[in-house]
Amino acid sequence: MNAKPVRHAVNWARKSALWPMTFGLACCAIEMIAAGSSRFDIDRFGAGVFRPSPRQSDLIIVAGTVTLKMGPVVRRVFDQMPEPKWVIAMGACASTGGPFDSYSTMQGVDRTIPVDVYIPGCPPRPEALLYGLMCLQEIIMREAPSAYIFESDGTVHRQRQLEGDDEELAEVAPMDTESLEAVADAQA
Ligand code: SF4
Repeated sequence: MNAKPVRHAVNWARKSALWPMTFGLACCAIEMIAAGSSRFDIDRFGAGVFRPSPRQSDLIIVAGTVTLKMGPVVRRVFDQMPEPKWVIAMGACASTGGPFDSYSTMQGVDRTIPVDVYIPGCPPRPEALLYGLMCLQEIIMREAPSAYIFESDGTVHRQRQLEGDDEELAEVAPMDTESLEAVADAQA
């Protein structure tokens, strides 16, 4: 059987029915909420079904400042989402810490979960989120079937190999050591 049409159909189905987590951390979340309004209509992209549970979601839009104390919570929510799942870092704070180069702010949510798309801006407008969503959909359409390895013990390894790429992207990793130490310091 020719695998290419099957992969295309599976990827098309995945990218056309993204269910984002209802999850906002700061001011960027207001723009994310606006993206669901009739003026911007995120439903046009098949991504308007915001879910109240990570177990029903396959996309987390990290919208807002991530503090070091919030980092492990974001990680837990991400871990509770079933594979396949994707992450958008919306805004300067989620991408890099933004204006908050401080003792309490994680300098980018990619220190705790793997990010697929970064959206610049402080805050990005809803149109920027829609563009980020379209970029993510392009990534999903390029995902190779080998991107997910389902183990018999229920764990899933995600290798994010994209069509046409020789290089395998990293598996989902635990929080980096620096962030773990900072969280431990903050909680001490
Ligand atoms: S990037 Fe700007 S608008 Fe977004 S959460 Fe940070 S400070 Fe607020």
